[in-house]
Amino acid sequence: MDKVAFLGLGAMGYPMAGHLARRFPTLVWNRTFEKALRHQAEFGSKAVPLEEVAEARVVFTCLPTTKEVAEVAERLFPHLRPGTYWVDATSGEPEASRRLAERLLERGVVYLDAPVSGGTAGAERGTLTVMMGGPEEGVEAVRPYLAYAKKVVHVGPVGAGHAVKAINNALLAVNLWAAGEGLVALVKQGVSAEKALEVINASSGRSNATENLIPERVLTRAFPKTFALGLLVKDLGIAMGVLDGEKAPSPLLRLTRELYEVAKRELGGEADHVEALKVLEAWGGAEIR
Ligand code: NDP
Repeated sequence: MDKVAFLGLGAMGYPMAGHLARRFPTLVWNRTFEKALRHQAEFGSKAVPLEEVAEARVVFTCLPTTKEVAEVAERLFPHLRPGTYWVDATSGEPEASRRLAERLLERGVVYLDAPVSGGTAGAERGTLTVMMGGPEEGVEAVRPYLAYAKKVVHVGPVGAGHAVKAINNALLAVNLWAAGEGLVALVKQGVSAEKALEVINASSGRSNATENLIPERVLTRAFPKTFALGLLVKDLGIAMGVLDGEKAPSPLLRLTRELYEVAKRELGGEADHVEALKVLEAWGGAEIR
């Protein structure tokens, strides 16, 4: 059976690579190598030095940004074999990915942008949504390997997957912040956030933020660290690049990006994205409870 390889065993990559290892011979590499050894012990994958991942027919990456993906690709470049597919699950940058795709093609490697949505819970359950950019033939060739996905949509040429992902996350950011503003006001008025959400989630204002994020993480004050605020701010920057590139109107998303930049300055990029609502709570002088 063809080997696959996974590079970047972070909050998302670790469980995603676990699904691959249950179905395919899977090589794993991580900058902090102990994580690769832990993965090997837990899932029966094989922890290898970077050069050895070039043995795989399909190489997966899930790194913070396209910059790290391009750096790893350069280090691997002399070892890459023609006919390899590169599935980049990073929430990356469309234009830089188009350049990376051209570079990899010099060695006969087909690059596909394949960012994911569904969070760490979706990665653990193997129910992620994948939005793919790249040639049809490449998408079909790698489809059987996407063991961590529930839904796979081919959205266009290289870069299109990253563009859709960035806009999706911009919508997440808008919904979360807007729900936070509304709930702070309602709490100050004496309405419990729980009751307000009971109504909203049976009404037209509901979103993933009101249905899942706020009840599970804010009302409980648990604020688990699953998706770093710094990564969401990065995604908002990519979204603005997409909008500006098309000279599309963007007053709301531009403001949203600025608000999350403020939250990042106040809380640090390592905070969880949902903790942005703590900034709103501080401004409003009320906790969302
Ligand atoms: P993490 O910070 O948990 O993991 C980042 C991974 O990248 C780690 O394996 C880290 O290695 C590695 N890495 C960082 N810098 C470098 C480098 N310079 N060279 C090589 N490897 C490096 O991030 P996530 O797993 O949360 O996110 C990964 C991608 O997935 C991001 O693009 C993010 O936007 C996206 N995403 C995240 C979601 C989430 O809910 N967390 C949901 C959907 C998409 P090391 O272990 O050594 O630090």
